[in-house]
Amino acid sequence: MYIIMLGAPGTGKGTIGKILSEDMKLTHISTGDIFREQINKKTELGKKIENYIENGLLVPDDVVIETVEARLLEDDVKNGAILDGFPRTVAQAQALKEFLSENNPNQKRIAIELNVPDDEIIKRIVNRVTCSNKECGAIYNLDTRPPKVAGICDICGSELRKRKDDNEETVRKRLEVYHLNSKDLLEFYKNNNALYSICPKQLEEAVKSIKEYLNRRK
Ligand code: ADP
Ligand code: ZN
Repeated sequence: MYIIMLGAPGTGKGTIGKILSEDMKLTHISTGDIFREQINKKTELGKKIENYIENGLLVPDDVVIETVEARLLEDDVKNGAILDGFPRTVAQAQALKEFLSENNPNQKRIAIELNVPDDEIIKRIVNRVTCSNKECGAIYNLDTRPPKVAGICDICGSELRKRKDDNEETVRKRLEVYHLNSKDLLEFYKNNNALYSICPKQLEEAVKSIKEYLNRRK
């Protein structure tokens, strides 16, 4: 099964995606994480995309599609994956549909939309810190889900970091970009009869409800 996590930045796609990935033994693929790693390593791709990300703009479709398709050909995702942060445009959704129809036609594809009001999102993102260890990548909220020891990951002990694009100005831009694309994107999955939307108020509850839905769709 390919599970596609849709929703604005800060709605919990990463947090919920990671929980689902462990529970369902599916690899979690986050385009944002892939891009940030390329930027840290100063690769050609990293240099090409850095400005878009810092300014809260979308990386161009052709670059994103090429990156994701290369990742989807690797062995650990042949039977499915959790896609977090991709697709973000109808062009990306269309490319994914064609790619999977060609390479893995028998696996189901289901999109989950996480719906959270913008003012709540802004509060969450300015308080968000993430584990710097990329194998772990745990996400904390200094307000609602703080680490036990300030600045240190509960799970692996690595240093916690704030993302460069997690400031109020860039978040507002990212939300604007999201709302520009989301209507058509959600429509795309609705028309494919593969969309489940929830307002995740409480983490455990949201995960439970998504899992129940996925079981019904198996
Ligand atoms: P968030 O969902 O919190 O915005 P992500 O880590 O998913 O964070 O993405 C960070 C940034 O990476 C985005 O603001 C965008 O610039 C870029 N990005 C990630 N995924 C995509 C995508 N599918 N299409 C275009 N740009 C993307
Ligand atoms: Zn960690």
